[in-house]
Amino acid sequence: METETVPRAMVTTSGELRERTAQARAAGKLIGLVPTMGALHEGHLSLIRRARAECGFVVVTIFVNPTQFPPGEDFERYPRDLAGDEAKARAAGADLIFAPPTSEIYPPDDSTFVEVTGPLVECLCGPHRPGHFRGVTTVCARLFNLVGPDRAYFGEKDYQQLLVIKQMVRDLHFPLAVVPVPTVREADGMAMSSRNSYLSPEERKAATALHRALSRAEEQVEHGERSAAALLAGVKEMIASEPLVSLQYVELRDAETLDALTALDRPAVLAVAVFVGKARLIDNVVIAR
Ligand code: AMP
Repeated sequence: METETVPRAMVTTSGELRERTAQARAAGKLIGLVPTMGALHEGHLSLIRRARAECGFVVVTIFVNPTQFPPGEDFERYPRDLAGDEAKARAAGADLIFAPPTSEIYPPDDSTFVEVTGPLVECLCGPHRPGHFRGVTTVCARLFNLVGPDRAYFGEKDYQQLLVIKQMVRDLHFPLAVVPVPTVREADGMAMSSRNSYLSPEERKAATALHRALSRAEEQVEHGERSAAALLAGVKEMIASEPLVSLQYVELRDAETLDALTALDRPAVLAVAVFVGKARLIDNVVIAR
């Protein structure tokens, strides 16, 4: 009797990955890529489900990318749960999970980085996380080359990252579409993030100030507010009222170029970064008017 081998759901080497994506391509399937650092939550799963709906073969990568953590950040203690992630990713529709060791992505003798330069990376998180976006674009360029996706899915939660990736894809002529996916939130409005696991119950409650502040700004806009200074002051006030939350930045910027705005005269993004205990958290709202 012939035994049928069931293809493995998780692979760790680029050779196995390429074999599987080549088979999918040969079968005429569109390849969707969802890059993640694991500790998967509903935000990640919404990206995977979207990819499932749009592509014939869905690859989820799970790789805690060391180059995107500036020195002193949380690389070592970043949450890791590969077994749980595999089950969740498969249930959401992943065909293949690529969970490589660091040496598979960064061979010991490598010496190439990919870096977007200019205004997109010189504001918001850029100055606060030196080297971060260079790490992100480098790993994404390598993953794009390894997977060869037709579509790659990124969350609007990391809004600046999304714009930086789009820029890299345009500039380097990667033959793929970058698909933005809306931020998934908890019932109380808090944006889902793997880093929320760092929060004590008390900190978790205080951290809702982030979403409350952004929601209030949206309400102000609905009531006709157009001044950046007024919107930023409102956010600062709300954050300051929570002793457990400290503001790193809040900025109103052009939704495409990230140019600083003094007035809401075009589509804009209101982006915030805070510290709550050990966790650095970001959130944003896009204001279309
Ligand atoms: P990470 O594992 O944090 O690198 O995130 C992997 C991908 O999931 C990125 O494209 C993120 O923007 C996206 N993502 C993270 N959190 C959320 C969320 N709450 N809603 C939607 N997408 C998210």
